[in-house]
Amino acid sequence: MGFRERKLVIQKGDQEFRKESYKMPEPLLSVDLTKPAEEQDTPVHNRWHPEIPPVASINPGDVFRVQCKDWTDGFIGYNDNAADVRDLPLTRVHILSGPVAVNGAEPGDLLVVDILDIGALPDYEWGYTGIFDYNNGGGFLTNIFPEARKAVWDLEGVYTRSRHIQGVRFAGILHPGQIGTAPGESLLRKWNQRESDLIDTDPERVPPLANPPTPENAVLGGLDGAEYDRVAQEAARTVPPRENCGNHDIKNLTRGSRAFFPVFVDGANLSVGDIHFSQGDGEISFCGAIEMAGWIDFHVDVIKDGMNKYGVRNAVIQLSPIEPRYSDFLLFEGISVDREGTQYYMDAHVAYQDACLKAIEYLGKFGYAEEQAYVLLSAAPIEGRVSAIVDIPSACCTVGIPTEIFDFDIKPTAAGPVSEDRGQLAMPSG
Ligand code: ZN
Repeated sequence: MGFRERKLVIQKGDQEFRKESYKMPEPLLSVDLTKPAEEQDTPVHNRWHPEIPPVASINPGDVFRVQCKDWTDGFIGYNDNAADVRDLPLTRVHILSGPVAVNGAEPGDLLVVDILDIGALPDYEWGYTGIFDYNNGGGFLTNIFPEARKAVWDLEGVYTRSRHIQGVRFAGILHPGQIGTAPGESLLRKWNQRESDLIDTDPERVPPLANPPTPENAVLGGLDGAEYDRVAQEAARTVPPRENCGNHDIKNLTRGSRAFFPVFVDGANLSVGDIHFSQGDGEISFCGAIEMAGWIDFHVDVIKDGMNKYGVRNAVIQLSPIEPRYSDFLLFEGISVDREGTQYYMDAHVAYQDACLKAIEYLGKFGYAEEQAYVLLSAAPIEGRVSAIVDIPSACCTVGIPTEIFDFDIKPTAAGPVSEDRGQLAMPSG
């Protein structure tokens, strides 16, 4: 099921010189980008819960296509106003397609998911990156960049560029930012307990330490009535990565890669969304990838009792043979010392922030505003590393920028940097 057989016939004069058949996956799940989540013909969801009912079932070995809305349910527009990023109701995210039940999968198995291909939907060949407002989501450097900003990106086949960050063009590394299996009942209880314990340590913090379950804007697939009300109270939000994979934001889970997901419920119940055209390691500005709507082709299989056989409790990923071929990188080193000069003990979070800030300052010499450089590090194929985690008292983290994505040379030379007008990010108005 899920296939459309096609014949490819190439005629030259009246001679047929090549003929082969191939298979195109039909959409198993479709979305209508002109309608909100609640009005989709095929139900979608924005919470993790074992009782969200599957919208389709497939067999191990099947190939199928899933269409996805963007993570915000179409809230962010292709325009020069970042008011939508500032005002996004975060209880609406992330809109996920599925769940798809895999016949025969049982708790303890591993679900083998091949990401065969990913693409944009016709007439929606664009994406966006945002800096979230300090009071609505924040981000990795929210203390330094607290105001909402936006860049929209035009997709040109495998490439992208943005009028809001000029002088740069790069190939995409498309991936689903969020994908995973449904949690079982006991795992869901464990998540809610440990995250509420964390929130209790500083309940008034802005931004919050974690996002507890809330019925506000909960979309729960086909559930309604009393069942909806009960599940909405306990269903997990989609923000963090967890044992079911979830919001991993690993840019290298790209087309051609294979993931092994733990199975916690009968049928595994696979859901996916939050497609990214590109992203830097860390997705630092939070809405930091090039976010888009799109489609993904999957092949699935099951390894019986795979969790026990391999001792796997979180997703394991086999990388793709296909990724953008950038080889010339400029690395910026960060250490566990903050902007005020305070030394932290082996803090990789502080060290990664330090590396990002050094890179942002450097890019400023070429004409980029600090916020533009922040968004660029977030969205371009940036390589982040924990380079050393043993040299007391500083961790060493690095941010690697591919030099080939720029229209000009960013490497240090005797001539010095050339600063030019690089456009500007969209700001909120109205
Ligand atoms: Zn995303």
